[in-house]
Amino acid sequence: MEGFVGAIGNTPLIRLKTLCKETGSEIYGKAEFMNPGGSVKDRAALYVIKEAEEKGLIKPGGTVIEGTAGNTGIGLAHVCRAKGYKCVIYMPNTQSQEKIDLLKMLGAEVHPVPAVPFDNPENYNHQARRHAERLENAVWTNQFDNTANRRAHLETTGPEIWEQTNGQIDGFTCSTGTGGTLAGVTRFLKEKNSQVKVFIADPPGSVLYAYFKSGGKLMERSGSSITEGIGQGRVTDNLAGDIHLIDDALYIPDEKSIEMVYRLLDEEGLYIGASTALNVVAAVEMAKQLGPGKKVVTILCDGAYRYQSRLFSRKWLETKNLLGAIPGHLQKYIVL
Ligand code: PMP
Repeated sequence: MEGFVGAIGNTPLIRLKTLCKETGSEIYGKAEFMNPGGSVKDRAALYVIKEAEEKGLIKPGGTVIEGTAGNTGIGLAHVCRAKGYKCVIYMPNTQSQEKIDLLKMLGAEVHPVPAVPFDNPENYNHQARRHAERLENAVWTNQFDNTANRRAHLETTGPEIWEQTNGQIDGFTCSTGTGGTLAGVTRFLKEKNSQVKVFIADPPGSVLYAYFKSGGKLMERSGSSITEGIGQGRVTDNLAGDIHLIDDALYIPDEKSIEMVYRLLDEEGLYIGASTALNVVAAVEMAKQLGPGKKVVTILCDGAYRYQSRLFSRKWLETKNLLGAIPGHLQKYIVL
Protein backbone atom coordinates (compact mmCIF):
# COMPACT_ATOMS: atom_id res chain seq x y z
CA MET A 1 0.00 0.00 0.00
CA GLU A 2 1.46 3.33 -1.07
CA GLY A 3 1.25 6.19 1.42
CA PHE A 4 -1.89 8.00 2.61
CA VAL A 5 -3.67 7.57 -0.70
CA GLY A 6 -3.07 3.81 -0.72
CA ALA A 7 -4.74 3.47 2.68
CA ILE A 8 -8.08 4.91 1.50
CA GLY A 9 -10.97 2.44 1.23
CA ASN A 10 -11.33 -1.28 1.96
CA THR A 11 -12.98 -0.45 5.27
CA PRO A 12 -14.56 -3.17 7.42
CA LEU A 13 -18.28 -3.92 7.49
CA ILE A 14 -19.37 -4.02 11.13
CA ARG A 15 -22.34 -6.05 12.39
CA LEU A 16 -24.29 -4.02 14.96
CA LYS A 17 -25.24 -6.85 17.28
CA THR A 18 -27.63 -5.11 19.69
CA LEU A 19 -29.65 -3.65 16.86
CA CYS A 20 -29.71 -7.03 15.10
CA LYS A 21 -31.12 -8.60 18.24
CA GLU A 22 -33.65 -5.82 18.69
CA THR A 23 -34.97 -5.95 15.11
CA GLY A 24 -34.49 -9.62 14.21
CA SER A 25 -32.67 -8.33 11.09
CA GLU A 26 -29.04 -8.09 10.09
CA ILE A 27 -27.83 -4.50 10.41
CA TYR A 28 -24.34 -3.62 9.22
CA GLY A 29 -22.35 -0.40 9.12
CA LYS A 30 -19.53 0.29 6.68
CA ALA A 31 -16.76 1.68 8.90
CA GLU A 32 -15.81 4.71 6.82
CA PHE A 33 -14.44 6.40 9.95
CA MET A 34 -11.49 4.00 9.51
CA ASN A 35 -10.29 5.77 6.36
CA PRO A 36 -6.90 7.43 7.01
CA GLY A 37 -8.41 10.93 7.06
CA GLY A 38 -11.18 9.70 9.33
CA SER A 39 -14.24 9.89 7.09
CA VAL A 40 -16.17 8.64 4.06
CA LYS A 41 -15.01 11.76 2.21
CA ASP A 42 -11.43 10.56 1.77
CA ARG A 43 -12.68 8.51 -1.18
CA ALA A 44 -14.28 11.48 -2.93
CA ALA A 45 -11.29 13.73 -2.14
CA LEU A 46 -8.95 11.28 -3.86
CA TYR A 47 -11.21 10.89 -6.91
CA VAL A 48 -11.77 14.62 -7.52
CA ILE A 49 -8.02 15.30 -7.31
CA LYS A 50 -7.15 12.32 -9.53
CA GLU A 51 -9.66 13.52 -12.10
CA ALA A 52 -8.24 17.07 -12.04
CA GLU A 53 -4.77 15.60 -12.62
CA GLU A 54 -5.96 13.39 -15.46
CA LYS A 55 -7.73 16.31 -17.16
CA GLY A 56 -4.61 18.47 -16.76
CA LEU A 57 -6.50 20.98 -14.60
CA ILE A 58 -3.77 20.94 -11.96
CA LYS A 59 -0.01 20.54 -12.23
CA PRO A 60 2.68 19.89 -9.58
CA GLY A 61 2.73 22.63 -6.94
CA GLY A 62 -0.83 23.72 -7.79
CA THR A 63 -3.71 24.63 -5.46
CA VAL A 64 -6.87 22.65 -4.71
CA ILE A 65 -9.80 24.85 -3.64
CA GLU A 66 -13.09 23.58 -2.25
CA GLY A 67 -16.24 24.63 -0.45
CA THR A 68 -16.95 22.08 2.27
CA ALA A 69 -18.63 21.61 5.63
CA GLY A 70 -15.45 19.92 6.80
CA ASN A 71 -14.83 16.30 6.00
CA THR A 72 -14.16 16.76 2.28
CA GLY A 73 -11.80 19.54 3.22
CA ILE A 74 -10.00 17.30 5.69
CA GLY A 75 -9.72 14.53 3.07
CA LEU A 76 -8.49 17.04 0.48
CA ALA A 77 -6.00 18.58 2.90
CA HIS A 78 -4.52 15.13 3.61
CA VAL A 79 -4.35 14.17 -0.08
CA CYS A 80 -2.86 17.59 -0.93
CA ARG A 81 -0.13 17.17 1.70
CA ALA A 82 0.57 13.66 0.41
CA LYS A 83 0.76 14.87 -3.21
CA GLY A 84 2.43 18.27 -2.67
CA TYR A 85 -0.50 20.58 -3.52
CA LYS A 86 -1.67 23.65 -1.61
CA CYS A 87 -5.20 23.47 -0.21
CA VAL A 88 -7.69 26.31 0.30
CA ILE A 89 -11.00 25.63 2.06
CA TYR A 90 -14.15 27.79 2.25
CA MET A 91 -16.64 26.61 4.86
CA PRO A 92 -19.83 27.88 6.52
CA ASN A 93 -18.98 29.46 9.89
CA THR A 94 -21.48 27.15 11.64
CA GLN A 95 -19.08 24.19 11.68
CA SER A 96 -17.28 22.80 14.72
CA GLN A 97 -14.00 24.33 15.89
CA GLU A 98 -12.36 20.88 15.84
CA LYS A 99 -12.74 20.69 12.06
CA ILE A 100 -11.36 24.21 11.51
CA ASP A 101 -8.36 23.51 13.77
CA LEU A 102 -7.63 20.20 12.07
CA LEU A 103 -7.74 21.76 8.59
CA LYS A 104 -5.24 24.39 9.68
CA MET A 105 -2.98 21.75 11.26
CA LEU A 106 -3.03 19.89 7.95
CA GLY A 107 -1.69 23.03 6.29
CA ALA A 108 -4.90 24.22 4.62
CA GLU A 109 -5.79 27.90 4.30
CA VAL A 110 -9.27 28.12 5.88
CA HIS A 111 -11.93 30.75 5.12
CA PRO A 112 -15.00 30.46 7.40
CA VAL A 113 -17.75 32.49 5.70
CA PRO A 114 -21.37 33.33 6.64
CA ALA A 115 -23.72 30.39 6.10
CA VAL A 116 -25.94 31.72 3.29
CA PRO A 117 -28.04 29.68 0.80
CA PHE A 118 -26.62 28.34 -2.46
CA ASP A 119 -28.40 30.98 -4.58
CA ASN A 120 -26.54 33.75 -2.71
CA PRO A 121 -23.26 34.64 -4.51
CA GLU A 122 -21.50 34.73 -1.11
CA ASN A 123 -22.28 31.04 -0.45
CA TYR A 124 -19.06 29.13 0.38
CA ASN A 125 -19.14 27.18 -2.88
CA HIS A 126 -19.25 30.27 -5.09
CA GLN A 127 -16.48 31.90 -3.06
CA ALA A 128 -14.33 28.79 -3.60
CA ARG A 129 -15.02 28.86 -7.36
CA ARG A 130 -14.13 32.55 -7.65
CA HIS A 131 -10.90 32.03 -5.69
CA ALA A 132 -9.85 29.27 -8.15
CA GLU A 133 -10.70 31.52 -11.11
CA ARG A 134 -8.35 34.20 -9.74
CA LEU A 135 -5.35 31.86 -9.31
CA GLU A 136 -2.96 30.21 -11.80
CA ASN A 137 -2.66 26.39 -11.58
CA ALA A 138 -5.65 26.09 -9.26
CA VAL A 139 -8.71 23.87 -9.41
CA TRP A 140 -12.10 24.16 -7.71
CA THR A 141 -12.96 20.51 -7.13
CA ASN A 142 -16.71 21.24 -6.85
CA GLN A 143 -17.67 18.18 -4.81
CA PHE A 144 -21.42 18.83 -5.07
CA ASP A 145 -21.70 18.74 -8.85
CA ASN A 146 -18.50 16.98 -9.90
CA THR A 147 -19.53 13.37 -10.52
CA ALA A 148 -15.99 12.09 -9.88
CA ASN A 149 -17.31 12.15 -6.29
CA ARG A 150 -20.12 9.67 -7.12
CA ARG A 151 -17.68 7.59 -9.19
CA ALA A 152 -15.53 7.04 -6.07
CA HIS A 153 -18.46 5.22 -4.50
CA LEU A 154 -19.57 3.50 -7.69
CA GLU A 155 -16.08 2.06 -8.16
CA THR A 156 -15.05 1.42 -4.54
CA THR A 157 -17.67 1.67 -1.74
CA GLY A 158 -20.43 -0.10 -3.70
CA PRO A 159 -18.28 -3.05 -4.86
CA GLU A 160 -16.81 -3.44 -1.36
CA ILE A 161 -20.29 -3.66 0.20
CA TRP A 162 -21.36 -6.20 -2.44
CA GLU A 163 -18.31 -8.39 -1.80
CA GLN A 164 -18.48 -8.07 1.98
CA THR A 165 -22.11 -9.23 1.98
CA ASN A 166 -21.49 -11.91 -0.69
CA GLY A 167 -24.24 -10.20 -2.65
CA GLN A 168 -26.69 -11.03 0.15
CA ILE A 169 -28.02 -7.55 0.78
CA ASP A 170 -31.68 -6.54 0.94
CA GLY A 171 -31.48 -2.85 1.77
CA PHE A 172 -29.15 0.13 1.78
CA THR A 173 -29.81 3.51 3.35
CA CYS A 174 -27.79 6.64 4.03
CA SER A 175 -28.11 10.39 4.25
CA THR A 176 -26.70 12.86 1.75
CA GLY A 177 -24.52 15.92 1.75
CA THR A 178 -23.34 15.96 -1.83
CA GLY A 179 -25.23 12.72 -2.53
CA GLY A 180 -22.06 11.07 -3.86
CA THR A 181 -22.11 8.17 -1.42
CA LEU A 182 -25.83 7.43 -1.80
CA ALA A 183 -25.86 7.73 -5.60
CA GLY A 184 -22.65 5.77 -6.24
CA VAL A 185 -23.49 2.90 -3.91
CA THR A 186 -27.10 2.80 -5.12
CA ARG A 187 -26.14 2.64 -8.79
CA PHE A 188 -23.69 -0.19 -8.16
CA LEU A 189 -26.03 -2.26 -6.00
CA LYS A 190 -29.03 -1.83 -8.31
CA GLU A 191 -26.94 -2.83 -11.34
CA LYS A 192 -26.00 -6.02 -9.48
CA ASN A 193 -29.51 -6.71 -8.23
CA SER A 194 -32.46 -4.45 -8.98
CA GLN A 195 -34.33 -6.00 -6.03
CA VAL A 196 -32.07 -4.32 -3.46
CA LYS A 197 -34.12 -1.55 -1.82
CA VAL A 198 -32.61 1.88 -1.21
CA PHE A 199 -34.00 4.54 1.16
CA ILE A 200 -32.68 8.09 1.42
CA ALA A 201 -32.32 9.22 5.05
CA ASP A 202 -32.88 12.93 5.66
CA PRO A 203 -32.37 15.24 8.67
CA PRO A 204 -34.41 18.32 9.66
CA GLY A 205 -33.62 21.37 7.50
CA SER A 206 -33.08 19.27 4.35
CA VAL A 207 -35.48 19.25 1.41
CA LEU A 208 -34.91 15.76 0.03
CA TYR A 209 -37.47 13.90 2.15
CA ALA A 210 -40.21 16.31 1.08
CA TYR A 211 -38.90 16.29 -2.50
CA PHE A 212 -39.21 12.55 -2.56
CA LYS A 213 -42.57 12.28 -0.83
CA SER A 214 -44.14 15.04 -2.97
CA GLY A 215 -43.06 13.38 -6.21
CA GLY A 216 -40.37 15.94 -7.03
CA LYS A 217 -41.32 19.32 -5.52
CA LEU A 218 -38.41 21.43 -4.23
CA MET A 219 -39.48 23.35 -1.12
CA GLU A 220 -37.67 26.23 0.62
CA ARG A 221 -35.21 25.05 3.27
CA SER A 222 -36.44 25.58 6.82
CA GLY A 223 -35.14 24.40 10.20
CA SER A 224 -31.74 23.00 11.04
CA SER A 225 -30.09 19.89 12.45
CA ILE A 226 -27.19 18.88 14.71
CA THR A 227 -26.07 16.42 12.01
CA GLU A 228 -23.16 18.28 10.41
CA GLY A 229 -22.17 17.39 6.85
CA ILE A 230 -25.60 16.23 5.65
CA GLY A 231 -28.87 17.77 4.54
CA GLN A 232 -29.38 19.47 1.20
CA GLY A 233 -31.40 22.30 -0.31
CA ARG A 234 -31.32 21.04 -3.91
CA VAL A 235 -30.77 17.98 -6.07
CA THR A 236 -27.03 18.05 -6.80
CA ASP A 237 -25.58 16.72 -10.06
CA ASN A 238 -24.14 13.82 -8.05
CA LEU A 239 -27.65 12.78 -7.05
CA ALA A 240 -29.66 13.86 -10.09
CA GLY A 241 -28.74 10.94 -12.35
CA ASP A 242 -29.66 8.27 -9.81
CA ILE A 243 -32.48 9.70 -7.70
CA HIS A 244 -35.01 7.71 -9.76
CA LEU A 245 -33.38 4.52 -8.43
CA ILE A 246 -34.26 5.38 -4.82
CA ASP A 247 -37.27 3.53 -3.44
CA ASP A 248 -38.29 5.60 -0.43
CA ALA A 249 -37.25 8.30 2.02
CA LEU A 250 -37.02 8.43 5.80
CA TYR A 251 -37.11 11.57 7.96
CA ILE A 252 -34.98 11.23 11.09
CA PRO A 253 -35.38 13.88 13.83
CA ASP A 254 -32.35 15.01 15.87
CA GLU A 255 -33.75 13.43 19.06
CA LYS A 256 -33.35 9.97 17.51
CA SER A 257 -29.90 10.71 16.09
CA ILE A 258 -28.47 11.98 19.37
CA GLU A 259 -29.88 9.01 21.28
CA MET A 260 -28.16 6.69 18.78
CA VAL A 261 -24.81 8.49 19.24
CA TYR A 262 -24.97 7.48 22.91
CA ARG A 263 -26.44 4.01 22.31
CA LEU A 264 -23.72 3.00 19.83
CA LEU A 265 -21.09 4.13 22.32
CA ASP A 266 -22.70 2.22 25.18
CA GLU A 267 -23.74 -0.93 23.33
CA GLU A 268 -21.11 -1.31 20.60
CA GLY A 269 -18.18 0.78 21.85
CA LEU A 270 -18.46 2.90 18.69
CA TYR A 271 -17.65 6.61 19.06
CA ILE A 272 -19.43 8.04 16.03
CA GLY A 273 -20.70 11.39 14.72
CA ALA A 274 -24.31 12.48 14.39
CA SER A 275 -24.68 11.77 10.64
CA THR A 276 -23.58 8.20 11.31
CA ALA A 277 -26.09 7.93 14.14
CA LEU A 278 -28.83 9.20 11.81
CA ASN A 279 -27.85 6.59 9.23
CA VAL A 280 -28.06 3.81 11.81
CA VAL A 281 -31.50 5.00 13.00
CA ALA A 282 -32.57 4.89 9.35
CA ALA A 283 -31.14 1.37 8.94
CA VAL A 284 -33.18 0.18 11.94
CA GLU A 285 -36.32 1.80 10.49
CA MET A 286 -35.65 0.27 7.09
CA ALA A 287 -35.11 -3.17 8.63
CA LYS A 288 -38.47 -2.86 10.40
CA GLN A 289 -40.17 -1.94 7.13
CA LEU A 290 -38.54 -4.74 5.11
CA GLY A 291 -39.46 -7.32 7.75
CA PRO A 292 -37.41 -9.74 9.87
CA GLY A 293 -34.41 -11.65 8.58
CA LYS A 294 -33.36 -9.04 6.02
CA LYS A 295 -29.86 -7.59 5.70
CA VAL A 296 -29.57 -3.79 5.73
CA VAL A 297 -26.32 -1.86 5.28
CA THR A 298 -25.56 1.77 6.07
CA ILE A 299 -22.54 4.08 6.25
CA LEU A 300 -20.62 4.92 9.44
CA CYS A 301 -19.39 8.25 8.04
CA ASP A 302 -16.99 9.51 10.71
CA GLY A 303 -16.06 9.46 14.39
CA ALA A 304 -17.32 11.74 17.18
CA TYR A 305 -13.84 13.21 17.70
CA ARG A 306 -14.71 16.03 15.30
CA TYR A 307 -17.81 17.06 17.24
CA GLN A 308 -17.14 16.04 20.84
CA SER A 309 -17.15 19.59 22.22
CA ARG A 310 -20.77 19.69 21.11
CA LEU A 311 -22.20 16.17 21.25
CA PHE A 312 -20.80 15.40 24.71
CA SER A 313 -21.37 18.82 26.29
CA ARG A 314 -24.30 19.15 28.71
CA LYS A 315 -24.56 22.86 28.01
CA TRP A 316 -24.68 22.40 24.25
CA LEU A 317 -27.24 19.61 24.51
CA GLU A 318 -29.39 21.86 26.70
CA THR A 319 -29.13 24.71 24.20
CA LYS A 320 -30.30 22.36 21.47
CA ASN A 321 -33.09 21.05 23.71
CA LEU A 322 -31.75 17.51 23.32
CA LEU A 323 -30.73 16.54 26.85
CA GLY A 324 -34.11 14.87 27.38
CA ALA A 325 -33.56 12.69 24.30
CA ILE A 326 -30.68 10.89 26.02
CA PRO A 327 -31.95 8.12 28.31
CA GLY A 328 -30.92 8.52 31.98
CA HIS A 329 -28.59 5.49 32.02
CA LEU A 330 -26.61 6.96 29.08
CA GLN A 331 -26.16 10.42 30.57
CA LYS A 332 -22.98 9.26 32.35
CA TYR A 333 -21.23 9.78 28.98
CA ILE A 334 -21.96 13.52 29.02
CA VAL A 335 -18.59 14.54 30.45
CA LEU A 336 -18.05 18.03 29.05
N1 PMP B 1 -21.57 12.51 6.96
C1 PMP B 1 -20.62 13.44 7.15
C2 PMP B 1 -20.11 13.66 8.55
C3 PMP B 1 -20.14 14.20 6.07
O1 PMP B 1 -19.20 15.14 6.28
C4 PMP B 1 -20.69 13.97 4.79
C5 PMP B 1 -20.21 14.78 3.61
N2 PMP B 1 -20.43 16.14 3.69
C6 PMP B 1 -21.69 13.01 4.63
C7 PMP B 1 -22.08 12.27 5.73
C8 PMP B 1 -22.40 12.79 3.31
O2 PMP B 1 -21.65 12.27 2.29
P1 PMP B 1 -21.96 12.64 0.77
O3 PMP B 1 -21.33 13.98 0.51
O4 PMP B 1 -21.30 11.56 -0.02
O5 PMP B 1 -23.43 12.70 0.57
